Amino acid sequence: MNAPLLETFARLITNTGPISIAHYMAESNAHYYNSRDPLGVAGDFITAPEISQMFGELIGLWLADIWIRAGRPAQVHYVELGPGRGTLARDALGAAKRYGLVPTVHFVETSTALKALQLELHPQARWHADLSTLPNDAPVLIVANEFLDALPIRQMVRTQEGWRERMVGLDQNRLIPIAGSQLMDNAVPQAHCDAPEGAILETSPASAAILYEVSGRLAAQGGAALFIDYGYGEPSLGSSLQAVRDHTKVDVFAAPGEADLTAHVDFSVLAAIAQSRNVRWLGTVEQGLWLRALGIEARADALAAFAPAHTAEIYAGRDRLIDQQQMGTLFKVMGLAGPSWPDGAGFS
Ligand code: SAH
Repeated sequence: MNAPLLETFARLITNTGPISIAHYMAESNAHYYNSRDPLGVAGDFITAPEISQMFGELIGLWLADIWIRAGRPAQVHYVELGPGRGTLARDALGAAKRYGLVPTVHFVETSTALKALQLELHPQARWHADLSTLPNDAPVLIVANEFLDALPIRQMVRTQEGWRERMVGLDQNRLIPIAGSQLMDNAVPQAHCDAPEGAILETSPASAAILYEVSGRLAAQGGAALFIDYGYGEPSLGSSLQAVRDHTKVDVFAAPGEADLTAHVDFSVLAAIAQSRNVRWLGTVEQGLWLRALGIEARADALAAFAPAHTAEIYAGRDRLIDQQQMGTLFKVMGLAGPSWPDGAGFS
């Protein structure tokens, strides 16, 4: 298997010792996303906006609805984090426009390969390497689908001698997870101090930093945000780090930079960060329930009536997005709004 990063990591570990899981995940995903379009049937994995146009459309309607009830501020920015192929933005902005919402478009994206695809659909957009350069002159409508799960996580593992950072070491020519040497007991909440040997605790400093920045902007500029991802409502012990290649789960350490590395998102921590910055947490609900509340079933019927030849495909897309055994329960939608912004649809 051709994995150039494997050799780089092996050399680095030989020379300077094991690297953290966070370092491993950050470098692997930077290489992975920068070098390809991973989305769709021909790629490694498929996301909600690539399954059905209804996903982006309903997000666009949610944004238009909250913007209208916020008094239709004349200037407003659409900001998408990790926009992939630009499909969600196309569908959302198309639907929002029908209700008079025509924002300027900003993409936070680091992948050269995906930026090229986004440019084809959105020649008027502006790109940012991170959130720091986003405009601060008007409310922001922020959308992030399957973005936080790709950010590096940190893991701690309980050993016989206490908690240690989980690291990546080298065994012959293979990368393997090992416990680091530094004591980490003070970084672990009291409740987990006596967890059984082998227990793993995950945190995502990168996601926390994003939520901190987004919340600061919502508080200062006004606006709303939707974070959609798979994850848990309450934190739990165990590793959720996984690698997906060609629509199949593979070994996390086998081919760095050649598979998509993701981890579950801890929505409870993210909501607490938002609230600590005076931002309104509108709720965190299952994707299936949220899309139903926004009317995905009526939308599917309307699309099928308009294009009868595509009926089966339209209903299959709807089911994949909302069924409990598919994406409906595992994926969650978290809504946030600026202090003087109204509630958003689908969260009550
Ligand atoms: N939202 C899209 C794509 C999800 S894949 C969809 O739903 O189809 C993850 C996206 O986040 C990709 O666009 C990837 O290039 C981007 N990304 C990953 N890590 C990033 C980072 N650290 N900064 C900015 N973008 C990142």
